[in-house]
Amino acid sequence: MKISTLFQQKKPVISFEIFPPKINTPVETIYETLEDLTKLNPDFISVTYGAGGSSRDRTKEIASRIKNQYKVEALAHLTCVGHSSSEIDLVLKGLQEENIENVLALRGDPPADNPDYDFSRCDFQFASDLVKYIKNLSDTCIAAAAYPEGHAHCNRLSEDLNHLKYKVDQGVDFLITQLFFDNRIFYNFIENARRIGIHCPVMAGIMPVLNAKQIKRIIALCGASMPAKLLMMVDKYGDNNEEMEKAGIEFASQQVRDLIENGVEGIHLYTMNKPRQITEILKNVGIVI
Ligand code: FAD
Repeated sequence: MKISTLFQQKKPVISFEIFPPKINTPVETIYETLEDLTKLNPDFISVTYGAGGSSRDRTKEIASRIKNQYKVEALAHLTCVGHSSSEIDLVLKGLQEENIENVLALRGDPPADNPDYDFSRCDFQFASDLVKYIKNLSDTCIAAAAYPEGHAHCNRLSEDLNHLKYKVDQGVDFLITQLFFDNRIFYNFIENARRIGIHCPVMAGIMPVLNAKQIKRIIALCGASMPAKLLMMVDKYGDNNEEMEKAGIEFASQQVRDLIENGVEGIHLYTMNKPRQITEILKNVGIVI
């Protein structure tokens, strides 16, 4: 089933994001996580695509298991950085063979050892090129990434939003946002996106903060701003893992509750492969009893 049809049927659409185990860890280690996550009846589960080729085949393998064994809709992430168009053809063919009808089309980050990577020399310079390419090839349902606080490599929010509008116009069916901790940022983003003519459904990306180390890494990686309440929480519980996790689950639950009250079209939970904490959040907000 194409995920785009879900937005006409229910509100909010609820999804989970998982990542494949590292290549030297057996792929089976994710199956227990999937058992627990699928019991929560998500509308779909997305599987990330490893940078640098490490776990790329696993994305298809795990997405296929989600779709064909657990009978939950799957969204396969696909980054085009470093891929030729014939390599993209192969990945898409593989997904099609597994009956996977939904792809999150991404550019990806520069390789870790080459921060000045020249994207202009690639077959696909931006995610919008990949969106256009997939759209011309098939009727796959295409999702794309959006950044309520602007993408880290774009200096101006308005420019980033114009790039997003162009990307959506190439054939994006729905958007999933980068994580954010202040819902007002998301609401402003939606208002601005609608104003410039981005009308597809937008799913809010929520990641629970479960320990102080994790949050520092996230902020360094994606630059999400920290509201005072979250800063105070990390200050207060940072050294106490158990209390920090409790507070992080409560914070994420409040974010989700507020988003639902404000009519969000979808919530995409970055699960970090931790079903217990995700279960608690969904119980807190009454989505799971
Ligand atoms: P783009 O949409 O191409 O944007 C990248 C940058 O280029 C932005 O700064 C944009 O403003 C700029 N830009 C776009 N078009 C133009 C233009 N025409 N002219 C000039 N500048 C332009 N990474 C992974 O490696 N694997 C994953 O599985 C993965 N999953 C993700 C899931 C979500 C929901 C999100 C939000 C991110 C994910 N990422 C993943 C990270 C993503 O790959 C990086 O953020 C990457 O740097 C940008 O990818 P993009 O698809 O947003 O790129």
